Amino acid sequence: MTTAAAKLSVLFVCLGNICRSPTAHGVFATLVEKSGYSELISVDSAGTGDWHLDHAPDKRTTQVAASKGYDLSTLRARLVTSADFAQFDYIIAMDNANLKDLREMQPQGYAGHLGLFLDFSEQSAVEEVPDPYYGGEEGFEQVFVHSRGLSVTPLGGGSNIVLAGDIAGLVIRVDLRGVSHRVEGAFVDVTFAAGEGWHDQVQQCLQQGWYGLENLSLIPGNMGAAAIQNIGAYGVELADLFVSLRAIDKQSGELLEFDKAACEFGYRDSLFKNAGRDRYIIVDICLRLSTLAQINVQYPALQTVIDQRRDSGAEITPELVGAMVCQIRSSKLPDPSVVPNAGSFFKNPIIPQGQAIELSRQYPQMPRYPQANGDSKVPAGWLIEHCGLKGAVRGPVGVHQQQALVLVNSGGGTGAQLLALAEEVRLAVLQRFVIDLDIEPRVYGG
Ligand SMILES: Cc1cc2nc3c(=O)[nH]c(=O)nc-3n(C[C@H](O)[C@H](O)[C@H](O)COP(=O)(O)OP(=O)(O)OC[C@H]3O[C@@H](n4cnc5c(N)ncnc54)[C@H](O)[C@@H]3O)c2cc1C
Repeated sequence: MTTAAAKLSVLFVCLGNICRSPTAHGVFATLVEKSGYSELISVDSAGTGDWHLDHAPDKRTTQVAASKGYDLSTLRARLVTSADFAQFDYIIAMDNANLKDLREMQPQGYAGHLGLFLDFSEQSAVEEVPDPYYGGEEGFEQVFVHSRGLSVTPLGGGSNIVLAGDIAGLVIRVDLRGVSHRVEGAFVDVTFAAGEGWHDQVQQCLQQGWYGLENLSLIPGNMGAAAIQNIGAYGVELADLFVSLRAIDKQSGELLEFDKAACEFGYRDSLFKNAGRDRYIIVDICLRLSTLAQINVQYPALQTVIDQRRDSGAEITPELVGAMVCQIRSSKLPDPSVVPNAGSFFKNPIIPQGQAIELSRQYPQMPRYPQANGDSKVPAGWLIEHCGLKGAVRGPVGVHQQQALVLVNSGGGTGAQLLALAEEVRLAVLQRFVIDLDIEPRVYGG
């Protein structure tokens, strides 16, 4: 036990000391430090089981904590021992099983506090922090919610999420509206509030004579979410036009500005899917468009229809490109308001050069798109189709008949059924092509 001159000491205990107790440890230690009580309060964590001794916290735990600004990377799992009762004033168990184990170890006369973690929470409706280890990602969020308080999840149009369970905490629909612009020579910097609809704004910009967005016509969703995955289609991606965005840091409440480099855009990827995941609420984005017509029809399917139009004497304008993109998309992709779907369910994988060459030898008809670093991007739809899964039906869910990259829910299907199909697809592609597909939409509660 600590003495008056020493610190008050707190030990968080769960089963393996790699998910729940390190989260509580990291969050509480940070609060103690921020409050200036580091000299007075010491914090530690341990497990009642020894499976993970000396291991860092589970990767999912570390990621969720990092997304909220907590660094758990230096923590290492250890076993709780009877000596801890001599050292710690508070020994706090995550669930009743942990508490039972601790009570069995508790020496007679222990004068500290041994109890459940959530006994300290006035808000919690539950008694125990559930062990997330064998569950989905959402369990790790839940641990965090319990450890830190309410989590806030912003949504835009909801077109790129899969709900396999409830979203922990508070969900807000970001419905900020407004568009402003500033002309700079032949360019116009347009700032869109996060709640403006993407396609509506593409149309508005074309009407204003502001060009560059037409290849991205008809992508569902809102302006704010466009930056989350750096949306792209028909040879253009958001990053090509991006200037900056403003976002609220949920940790500090500050309004921050991110330029293009800070957003770390990649293929269907950004800071907001990695280190900044779940940390920010985007309030607006600024894109640089051109007042001069920009025509980009390098994408083969678009090039073909534009060539046909050119051959029949049509003038090739950005408006025509936008209209053709809408036409192609409508003919290839199911309308989510008619056949529920989240668009491309998997990212197109990027594979190393050696593997691409070997696969091309085996499957000469396999399309592949060389990248600047020598890797190749391969269409996930082609891989799925060549596993014989195009049009596959599994009860109410299935792989779309015309577009193997799209999973559909014909009505009444659950998130769990959809994810089971996604796993079947993933395993089939892995077995046949040794390529591991990544899911593109954000899965909650899976
Ligand atoms: C039929 C169909 C076709 C599609 N085609 C394409 C395509 O061609 N190219 C492409 O790239 N994508 C495509 N998508 C995917 C989708 O349109 C995009 O990902 C879009 O940006 C999602 O916008 P949303 O507003 O619906 O986001 P939501 O589904 O509401 O949210 C997606 C994620 O972004 C987060 N988020 C939303 N708003 C904010 C905010 N303001 N601040 C912080 N986080 C936020 C949410 O928390 C969630 O994790 C398609 C989807 C469908 C259904």
